[in-house]
Amino acid sequence: MDRSARTGPEEGTEVLADLLLAWYRPEKRDVPWRHARDAYAIWVGEVMAQQTRMDTVRSYHARFLERFPTASALADADLDEVLKVWEGMGYYGRARNLHAAAREVCRSYGGRLPPDRARLEGLPGIGRYTAGAVASLAFGLEEPAVDGNARRVLSRLFDMANPSPALLHEAVLGLMGSRPGCAAHLNQALMDLGAGICTPRSPRCGSCPAAGRCLALARGTVARRPAPRRRGPLPHQTVGVGVVWREGRVLIARRPPSGLLGGLWEFPGGKLENGESPADAVRRELREEVGIEVRVGDLIDRVNHAYSHFRVTLHFYEATYVSGRARARAATAVRWVEPRRLVDFAFPTASLPIVRRLQARPSSEPGSPT
Ligand code: SF4
Repeated sequence: MDRSARTGPEEGTEVLADLLLAWYRPEKRDVPWRHARDAYAIWVGEVMAQQTRMDTVRSYHARFLERFPTASALADADLDEVLKVWEGMGYYGRARNLHAAAREVCRSYGGRLPPDRARLEGLPGIGRYTAGAVASLAFGLEEPAVDGNARRVLSRLFDMANPSPALLHEAVLGLMGSRPGCAAHLNQALMDLGAGICTPRSPRCGSCPAAGRCLALARGTVARRPAPRRRGPLPHQTVGVGVVWREGRVLIARRPPSGLLGGLWEFPGGKLENGESPADAVRRELREEVGIEVRVGDLIDRVNHAYSHFRVTLHFYEATYVSGRARARAATAVRWVEPRRLVDFAFPTASLPIVRRLQARPSSEPGSPT
């Protein structure tokens, strides 16, 4: 076969669609929310899976649906509770958006997700990919859902270096148009092929059902498709954090509702300013942002964590309350809580080792803080 004679997604789509579908049926991944056409379960699962490994998502998805089985149940819940169920999975904006969108679904659509891409994309946090996934998987609509895996597969199949979302959609629509009624399976076949065979660095072309129709393989460009995105090193921040004790309780503060880690609770602290040590930063932040004087003690731990746009090293220090009245300034609330009660609050992943350590430590000073 002269593969190089083919030039783009418009040619040979029936053959390619059939190869993908024939491979997908026996080889598909076990993705729990894709077993049934429950639009709500699909929506939650697809949002979770965008930035989290599938192995992790499975248990979170089951727990989330057990606690919030419908959009109405999610809409009725407090955001604090939603964040608590989400705790440890990161990218908390996803949880806040799910909660806001569930309320919108109840307000505008009677508690059911609308079977329409445009209206789905009008909901908080639902972008092109999620709308396509819900529309095709739940409602059988011919709508592309191109995640990172599918993008890589399509870039290689059609030898596209840096395809735009519109071009990728056109390629998928071509496949869907050649085999009507198979939109959900075609979307999932592309995603699953990218997850298991057409991987970023070591694609297993020898096991690929589409190898005979892959332009990048024929042209020797697989390693350059899609063209790598150039990213410089992530900036790094150093932060001092105080675990401030007062009469057997520790101080926690809630972050503002929007932005990074919005709505989560944390131990107060902040970035180092010029020439400061982490302990200095703890003292200053507690004075300026919380309004209390503290005595900084031993280092508890250093925790490294990477976010999408920066890395951070958090230096957690023991600290003892000295004077003043804790108040919320940058935070939206502050509380003194017994260590055993920390489990009731949602914390960022980077703080969880400290939370667990404090819960395991018996509190020696009963008290009644203000
Ligand atoms: S032949 Fe190789 S590069 Fe092409 S789609 Fe299959 S696994 Fe990917």
